[in-house]
Amino acid sequence: MEEERGLVFLIQRYSVQDGPGLRTTIFMKGCPLRCQWCQNPESLSLHPDLMTHDTKCMLLGKCADACPLGAITIDRKSRKIDRAKCDLCFHCVDTCPTKALSKVGEYMTVAEVMAEIERDELFYRRSGGGVTVSGGEPLLQWQFVHRLLEACKQRHLHTALDTCGYAQWPILEKVLEHVDLVLYDIKHIDPELHKKATGKSNQRILRNLHLIPPHKKVWLRLPLIPGFNDSRENLTELGKLGQEIGVEKVSILPYHKLAEEKYRQLGMQRKMSPLKPPTKRQLQKVQPLIESFGLQVTIGS
Ligand code: SF4
Ligand code: SF4
Repeated sequence: MEEERGLVFLIQRYSVQDGPGLRTTIFMKGCPLRCQWCQNPESLSLHPDLMTHDTKCMLLGKCADACPLGAITIDRKSRKIDRAKCDLCFHCVDTCPTKALSKVGEYMTVAEVMAEIERDELFYRRSGGGVTVSGGEPLLQWQFVHRLLEACKQRHLHTALDTCGYAQWPILEKVLEHVDLVLYDIKHIDPELHKKATGKSNQRILRNLHLIPPHKKVWLRLPLIPGFNDSRENLTELGKLGQEIGVEKVSILPYHKLAEEKYRQLGMQRKMSPLKPPTKRQLQKVQPLIESFGLQVTIGS
């Protein structure tokens, strides 16, 4: 029987932002939420995506010749892709000599991902690091993620799961069997505002958070979105929640604009107009407010 594969869109080595020490972060594709500010639009779909890299395009036209559906047109100035015609066969990617098109997402076996992870085992051990599985939302591919984390634990590697918490509890419970640290995203405390900005209420997310066994280490992660979740009221409620759960840390992840270009490259429409990232002064207010609940707070990791 063929081994089940997981759809991975990035394996990031030497990460210092997804848990303690130096880590390899495995980014899984697919997400049940649609956060308006999402910084990883390439993670959202549960299939590989076609990405363009216009600065590399020399208008050679090989992609247009290779496309069986006539979805690519080239003129003297530009290359255009009709995404409505495209069926994601990726023939164009294979034929472009300058790599001006790429496929985002590869189906990989646990053994293939482990081979990447094992390259840096020495660094994990020296730095107190390990492996983080992130996304998208890794619980959408929970069977694969469970087996991957199990393989990591068999090699005595520290494991972290970065999740938005939107899954059925038995799934999260099962995956947690092989997780040392849970990086748990909280976008907003208010269920209605959460639903408005992400497409789903946070009730299941908060319920799951309360069900995580107390012996598991949890870091809450707040993507700080100016005008959405940076009010005193929301931050106060987040601090209370962290205190109640007994989390080890709260990580504040300031919104940034780096994803703007990715939306264009994927031919996707952004639901929200670009915001200004939070200023240093705004961040300086957030940190002590949450710290006043006796919590350790870091910015950016
Ligand atoms: S992925 Fe396939 S269908 Fe889509 S533009 Fe490329 S060659 Fe055409
Ligand atoms: S949970 Fe994360 S990956 Fe999913 S839509 Fe929100 S920001 Fe994007």
